[in-house]
Amino acid sequence: MWRARNQDELARLFDIVVRHALDYLGRDTTHPVSTHEALQLLRTQLGGDLPAAGQSSAEVLEQFIAAAEPGLSPSTSGRFFGFVTGGAYPVAVATEWLTSVWDQTPVLHVSSPAAAVVEETVAGWLTQLFGLPATTSVGITTGCAAANLIGLAAARHHVLAAVGWDVASAGLVGAPAPRVLASRGCHVTVIRAARLLGLGGQIHLVDTDEAGRMRLDHLAHLLATTHGPLIVCGEVGDVDTGAVDPVAAIAELTHAHGGWLHLDAAFGMWAAASPRLRATVPGLAGLDRADSWATDAHKWLNVPYDCGIALCAHPTSHLAALRAQADYLPSASGGVRNPMDYTPEMSRRARALVLWTTLRHLGADGVAELVERCCALARRMADQLARVDGVTVLAEVTLNQVLVRFTPPRHGRSPDARDLAGHDTPTEDAHTEAVIDAFQRGGVGWASPTRWRGRTALRLSVCNWQTDAATVDAAVDALVTAHRATAAAPTRSPTLPRPSHPHDDDLISEGTA
Ligand SMILES: *Cc1c(COP(=O)(O)O)cnc(C)c1O
Repeated sequence: MWRARNQDELARLFDIVVRHALDYLGRDTTHPVSTHEALQLLRTQLGGDLPAAGQSSAEVLEQFIAAAEPGLSPSTSGRFFGFVTGGAYPVAVATEWLTSVWDQTPVLHVSSPAAAVVEETVAGWLTQLFGLPATTSVGITTGCAAANLIGLAAARHHVLAAVGWDVASAGLVGAPAPRVLASRGCHVTVIRAARLLGLGGQIHLVDTDEAGRMRLDHLAHLLATTHGPLIVCGEVGDVDTGAVDPVAAIAELTHAHGGWLHLDAAFGMWAAASPRLRATVPGLAGLDRADSWATDAHKWLNVPYDCGIALCAHPTSHLAALRAQADYLPSASGGVRNPMDYTPEMSRRARALVLWTTLRHLGADGVAELVERCCALARRMADQLARVDGVTVLAEVTLNQVLVRFTPPRHGRSPDARDLAGHDTPTEDAHTEAVIDAFQRGGVGWASPTRWRGRTALRLSVCNWQTDAATVDAAVDALVTAHRATAAAPTRSPTLPRPSHPHDDDLISEGTA
């Protein structure tokens, strides 16, 4: 059904999207935050065979919006505390529309001079914002998972080159085996990146302390007892506790052993954009001494999915690890920068555009303010929850993550009076799960569980630009109500104890941090 381009059609479609967008994004305060939607409904509305005949574009769009809506996660809402999600600033959403309208691909400078220069500019802004060396090279990725892959690819190249092995031409077979020392709490995507790079067999996990920070004594022990070219992976912002590894000390130990320090700083990196937090968040000082960093813009910077950032202190290794040349692709010369040299992808959307407008909209002060505000709100949430009987905040709030556990009051015994050995873990797990379930169904806020030191906990992440004190207080109220209502009703009968977890012995203090 080929038809000539038609401005009226474009106007009609854009009108549908604009009307829907204003309605959808305007619902924040009344739309229940709940994802308990019928899978069957979505499959009926969205599934089925592909019809042979096409349909008018406006009709398709209207039907599509109606069919998908019941299954949309309320992740743009300021009341969404799930995972580490972030919302989207209006300027960022609008820029994403432009990105599609312009449909540029930043493969080479010549494939889109505008996108290439925007990327080059944004790379400089980010490096400055995070306080990293001015020579840092930057790749714009789908997310932090891809950025971790880039950091470890550069690391692998670098540490092998240092012992005279060119992994780009010689591969890994027969190479001196690099060792990867990664924090026990490190993100799954760090481990996956190591596996994809053929380093899965050489990973040693470094123990963490009660807040999830890498233990320096265990790192030192592993450095002394393992051998081979060295890559250390640290964490700036644990997904559960938000804890930051002591990066300066880790960098010092790593470099003393000739190694490369990669930091997964998916959301924690943004704390460095605040001069105040950079100086005061435990562990964060010395962030600039790492060799590579991976972070996200689609989380804490509040730009739409997807947008991640890979940063590398050794541009030569970064470029060598990703090198791809062909006669039809003009190489970067004469001072131009080819975006494809910095990521594994070739064609991709011009993700840097949204960074340019959002960073310009906020300014350096605005980014710092956003991050500081989220951290203060997370602390507010934790402080309020800690005052409630039967609620335990499991780790000190370092950044924007709050980790809590709910204990049902027991006959003749207050929850605080339990002795350590007297934990009734299955009952507490069941109660915590029930509270989370009731909270999710209640529609006042949304967050989801994790397992922390072998026990169920609720993790709350404050990283939406729209979240304010009222939002946080309402979520706390809803949680407390769910906790009391669930405690009053009989919880599920205790299940058999789960297999013990390596960390069960070093349970963190039951007092709130
Ligand atoms: C989210 C996250 C990742 C993965 O990032 P994506 O953007 O989902 O690819 C890696 N590490 C940490 C600590 C994260 O929070």
